[in-house]
Amino acid sequence: MLHDELIAQLAALDEQALLRRRRTVEDPCGPRVRVDGRLMLAFCSNDYLGLAAAPELTEALREGATRWGVGSGASHLVSGHYQVHEILEARLAELVGRPRALYLSTGYMANLGIPSALVGRGDALFADRLNHASLVDGARLTRADVHRYPHGDLTALARLLEASRARRKLILTDAVFSMDGDIAPLPELLELAKRHDAWLVVDDAHGFGVLGPRGAGTAAHFGLPDTWRLVYVGTLGKAAGVAGAFVAGDEAVVETILQSARPYLFTTGSPPALAHTLLASLDLIAQGAARRAHLAELITALRNALPLSRWTLLPSPTPIQPVVIGDNAETLRVARALWDQGLWVPAIRPPTVPKGSARLRISLSAAHTLEDVAHLADALLRLEAAA
Ligand SMILES: *Cc1c(COP(=O)(O)O)cnc(C)c1O
Repeated sequence: MLHDELIAQLAALDEQALLRRRRTVEDPCGPRVRVDGRLMLAFCSNDYLGLAAAPELTEALREGATRWGVGSGASHLVSGHYQVHEILEARLAELVGRPRALYLSTGYMANLGIPSALVGRGDALFADRLNHASLVDGARLTRADVHRYPHGDLTALARLLEASRARRKLILTDAVFSMDGDIAPLPELLELAKRHDAWLVVDDAHGFGVLGPRGAGTAAHFGLPDTWRLVYVGTLGKAAGVAGAFVAGDEAVVETILQSARPYLFTTGSPPALAHTLLASLDLIAQGAARRAHLAELITALRNALPLSRWTLLPSPTPIQPVVIGDNAETLRVARALWDQGLWVPAIRPPTVPKGSARLRISLSAAHTLEDVAHLADALLRLEAAA
């Protein structure tokens, strides 16, 4: 029976310790949360600036709901596009220094829709092997020939671009890699895009709000020029602390995405009250130098406090600080031991990361303190010594 098959599949996952379980959090997002009645110190969220439960944003959401109600009622192209969405798009474009921005419901939907708006059957798409799942899915939907290059390998990418006879080419990459925390070589990628007449689509889910002047993101961090080739995607549920995403770039590129990206066209517009909340979030991001400085201090402190020998702290300059343990079972064991000490750090296993590179993904937030970080480092060093 079909149904028995599902039950057997789930049992098999459970046996291999691959069944995922959700923890239920009983407090607003933050470093200190009760989970199943236990107070935990969490290093899991992507709330890098500590805005997800900021009183200013809670107040803005209340105000937004009073002004705009709750739902948008329709898709953006029918009647679900409000004045506050327009204002938000203008502010986003201004913050990242590009001519135009389009606001979408989630980063996943942005990444599903954008590649298909630009390339299709017979075209070629070049993707970093460690790209986020949403980019992998977005690439597949294009029906273009998808070439995956080894992580960050510009030589391999150049060779693939050289060999391609496709008319339209698109390079697709995370700006900050979500499971490694390293930064893509965007200036070199843009150079390759120019040389081979390609677009460069950059997913800055983990850099927007965190990197660059005024938190304008990884493209601003590198001071990339404003060119139609660069298609910049930022998400608004991580450092921005709310929900949603945007694509920023050239007028015609953004208009093309607005006209044809199916995850934009065929979904109900995101609640205008969220757009109102995001305006307040963008203020906090632009004025967030102190939050970013504190975050940088936490990153340095953690790295200095973790001279690991058997495990490897990946060389990441961002709030994503992965400790690679390797073996799945050992990684789970360590995560469980931390949990028992009141420390919540997610264990990330294949297929999310390559086989043999299971890891703890520590993520830091400006809401953490130096003591929080010292406490975590201390626990990790002890566990490594005992392993
Ligand atoms: C989280 C994430 C997304 C998805 O963004 P959502 O707004 O959460 O849907 C896309 N790309 C990367 C690299 C991410 O980490």
